[in-house]
Amino acid sequence: MSEALSQSPCHEWAATLHGLLDDELDAVHAMRCEEHVANCAACHAELARLRVLRGIMRQDSVRWPAPEALRSRILADVMQNGNARPQEPADPYNRSWGRFMAALQRWSLVPSFVVLAASLFIVFGPLTRGGALPEELVAGHVRSLLADHLTDVASSNRHVVKPWFIGKLDFAPPVIDLGEQGFPLIGGRVEYIDERVVAALVYRRHNHIINLFIWPATANSRRAVTREGYNLMNWTQGGLTFWAVTDLDANELNQFQQALAAATSS
Ligand SMILES: [Zn+2]
Repeated sequence: MSEALSQSPCHEWAATLHGLLDDELDAVHAMRCEEHVANCAACHAELARLRVLRGIMRQDSVRWPAPEALRSRILADVMQNGNARPQEPADPYNRSWGRFMAALQRWSLVPSFVVLAASLFIVFGPLTRGGALPEELVAGHVRSLLADHLTDVASSNRHVVKPWFIGKLDFAPPVIDLGEQGFPLIGGRVEYIDERVVAALVYRRHNHIINLFIWPATANSRRAVTREGYNLMNWTQGGLTFWAVTDLDANELNQFQQALAAATSS
């Protein structure tokens, strides 16, 4: 884990990760990138970090207006050096845009924005980690559906799925088929969530998928949250943290949780 934490993302994927985040990749490159991220802890962590950063930058409280003095100085500079008059330039848009950009660069607004973004992340990054966990789990759920990477081991047989995790995790997740209760197990994979490698078990309910993320608990918790239209349920049992993520309604998710908790404790 600490090894993955200290690794920096792969150099050759750095730009692609931004493209993936901004939805700028074509299907083939997006899929390749998703595939790499699914298998590379460092790039997975980097993508999660970029998502958090983007979320912070979008918050209203982070958008600060330029100080009035700075604004006046830039405007004065544009007016003075540019001698801007509506009727004068042949190509007013280009001229005034060029002057505006020149003024911006003169006052070093662009580099200071980068510094601002970086320092905001340093300050707020660690604080928002806890709050960003549900988002990270939803991202893991969506990624598993989009990138055709639902399972690394596809089987409803827990005697196949359980041993598959050996050597991939530093704990043994309970692998239980809930087919009789209407939630058949369809397989498992490993994910990188909240800065650690976790187990992801995949269950199906009719045409809906439930991703069940499991890792060792650090504290007892129980909560249900909704993020981006997905229902999430979190609980701890037997020293493990469970997070179920699905597009099923809250009732059915509750049924799933009850069935799993009962089967796990017996
Ligand atoms: Zn990588």
